[in-house]
Formats: sequence, C-alpha cells, structure tokens
Amino acid sequence: MVKRFNFSGIPTIHFGPGKIFEIPEIIKMYGHTILLVTGSTSFASSYYASKLFSQLNNQGIIVFQTRIMKEPSPQDVDEAVSDFRGKNIDAVVAVGGGSVIDAGKAISAMIPSGEPVKDYLEGIGKKHHSGIKVPFIAVPTTSGTGSETTKNAVISEVGPEGFKRSLRHDNFMPDIALVDPELALSCPPEITAASGMDTFTQLLESYLSTKSNPLTDALALEGIKRVKQSLTSVYLNGSDLEARSNMAYASMLSGITLTNAGLGVIHGFASSLGGLYDIPHGVVCGTLMGSVNRLMVNKLNSKDSESHTLKKYAEISRIFFQETQDTGDVDLAYMLVNKIEELITDLRLPGLGAYGVTTDDLEKIALDTSNKNNPVQLDREDLIGVLSERL
Ligand code: NAD
Repeated sequence: MVKRFNFSGIPTIHFGPGKIFEIPEIIKMYGHTILLVTGSTSFASSYYASKLFSQLNNQGIIVFQTRIMKEPSPQDVDEAVSDFRGKNIDAVVAVGGGSVIDAGKAISAMIPSGEPVKDYLEGIGKKHHSGIKVPFIAVPTTSGTGSETTKNAVISEVGPEGFKRSLRHDNFMPDIALVDPELALSCPPEITAASGMDTFTQLLESYLSTKSNPLTDALALEGIKRVKQSLTSVYLNGSDLEARSNMAYASMLSGITLTNAGLGVIHGFASSLGGLYDIPHGVVCGTLMGSVNRLMVNKLNSKDSESHTLKKYAEISRIFFQETQDTGDVDLAYMLVNKIEELITDLRLPGLGAYGVTTDDLEKIALDTSNKNNPVQLDREDLIGVLSERL
C-alpha cells in the first residue's frame, strides 16, 4: 500500500538553456515594475545580463536593483525592504546563487509589512507571518541549493552569538522557478563542487529522511542519478552544458524533496556551523557527508543489518555501481560511503579547520546541532566525533 503523505505545491517551472530571456514576458503577468536582486558581479557583468537589460528596457519595464554580496543577514533584508517598499514593486526577481535567491525571497515576503525579518525567523522571532508577499521569481545561477523550489529563506548572522535560521511559509514558494543551466557555466570549480555537494546531500538526506514518501523518493533517486552522471564531469569541465543541465535539474529536484521530506543531521550542522563561522553552506554539507554517512551505516549495521534505511542506502549505491555484482545491502551501503569519500577528495573539499573551526569549539557546535529528520539519532559524542574527523 502507498504510504499516506502530503505534497506541497511547486512553482511554475521554466527549465532549459536560453530560458533567461523569457523573463520579460513572465514579468508582464505581474506588472511593469520589478526589484532585481543579483549577487556580486558574475551575472551583472555577463552577456546574459546586458541582453536581458536591453529587453527589459525595450519593453518599458522599470527595474530597481539591489545586490547581495554574501549569505544574507537580517540587516541585508531590512535595508532592501526599507529602500524599495515605497516603489510599488510588482515582482521581485532574484538572479543568483542560493544567497541571492533567499535574500530575494525574504525581501518579497517583508515588503508588504516593512517589519524586521528577524521577528519572523524560526527559533529567533516570536511572530507568525501572514504569508502575504510580493510575487517572486527565482532564477538560480548555482546548482545548487534548490532554493528556487523551496518555501524557506535562510538568513544568518555570523559570530559567537550568531544564528542561521529560516523564514518559512507555504506562500514563500517562488511563483516562478526559471532554471537556465547556461547561467551556471561561469561557476568556478570550487563553487561548482561545494554547491553540487549541497544538492547531493539534500537529495540523499531527503531520501533517507523519516518523513520521506514515495513521491519524494522517486524525485530524489532521479536527482541522484543526475549527480552520479555529472557532478565530477562538471567539476572537471565547467563548460559542459549537458552536465550543467543535469546538475541544475538535480538541484531543482532537491528543493522539492527537501521541502516535502525534510533533511538530516548534515543540515543540522549547516545551521549550527553557519551561525558561528563564515563558511560556505555547500562546504559544510560536502565535507561532512562522508564521515556522517559512514557513522550512520556503522550504527545501522550493528543494530539491524536488515533495516529499511540500509536498504535505502543500498538502493542509492546501485545507481553508482550498476555494473558491479549485487553483494547485499550492507556491502552496497559501504560501497556508497566509500564513493562519497572519494568524491570529497576528488572535488578537493576543504576541512572545517580552513574556516577557523578548532577542537575547542566542537562541544558548543554539537550542543547547537539538531538531528532534524535523520533516520539515525546521533548523540553528542557522535557529533563531536564526525566534526573532529573533518577539522
Ligand atoms: P552563494 O549564493 O552564497 O554563492 C557562492 C558564490 O558563488 C558567491 O560568491 C557568488 O557570487 C558566486 N556565484 C554564484 N553564481 C555564480 C556564477 N554563475 N558564476 C560565478 N560565480 C557565481 O552559494 P550557494 O551555495 O548557491 O547558496 C548558499 C546559500 O543558500 C546559503 O545561505 C544557504 O543557507 C542557502 N540555502 C538555502 C536553501 C533554501 O531552501 N532556501 C537550501 C540550501 C541552502
């Protein structure tokens, strides 16, 4: 029998090379004044931006602009809201990595009231958002966070008292997700690697999640197939459009699966570490993926080698080792863990120490880390153990 489940609505999706130039037509569904949110420089200085601007200009669309230079803070969101809420913005369009999309998502959510975003962050603020927002169009340039298909925006304040928390509401799912794989062609290898491992972690964690369902499982497996096909190749050759396209598709699927199935302990670490250190989200996920999954498989195997979660590990492993003889679930699960560790080395993901994490900090990080919907509960010692392996 099919398990009982709920599945949230997803945005209208426009996927494929060249789709960026459909933006002006899409905007006209909402009005003629937009706030365009972009990142540091890569998109703004590209051929795509200059052609898009000339199209917008020709069609009489008024464009206000703001830039987000790093993972967004409450201050970044509040400043943009205060600068643009009097401008009768018909739609917010965010073109960039997950940081830009999350900033745009939060700005579109806060423009109607003009209140500080911090008041509405999970675990930080006390208020509940009405869900009223300005229409929002998400256009990712990394593959990625999948933020174009999620209903949360991650906002952080980094420091000893820092936090990394979500602004979340069903209505914050972007109205339009426009995914054009050509926009990621300019990503340098280290960003391709970190954001690609974020996608892989999201797909794997949502597939193994205690809240997964048959529909999220089908999408997660499809996404993992694309990761297997293309993550290493796109890292080695960033101009391979077919590989970029596979990773953009996998990333978009990962947003849908994480929204509907939740995530695991690696994303628990992403919140605790991300509030304390200036460390890219994808690096946290990628660098911890091997040690966390090895520990989980060890624990599952010592408790019940027939467990449902081990069978799911084996299912993923079969994607990576199609031609190998099937040697049973436990062996397959370890083969997958070995493969993940190989990927971490091949993609040259740095350890946590490179961002200032020291042994003295591990206790505090472990205390702030949630297991989320992990199928295996990791305790304080386990959490400290995996962190020390990846310092
Ligand atoms: P990012 O947006 O921070 O970008 C990383 C770097 O890549 C930046 O310097 C940016 O300028 C550059 N960049 C982006 N696109 C580029 C391109 N095409 N060419 C060259 N350079 C480019 O990184 P990210 O991994 O995409 O996003 C991370 C953020 O997303 C974190 O804040 C994380 O918490 C958040 N996130 C959100 C969700 C969600 O569901 N809302 C899910 C996962 C992660």
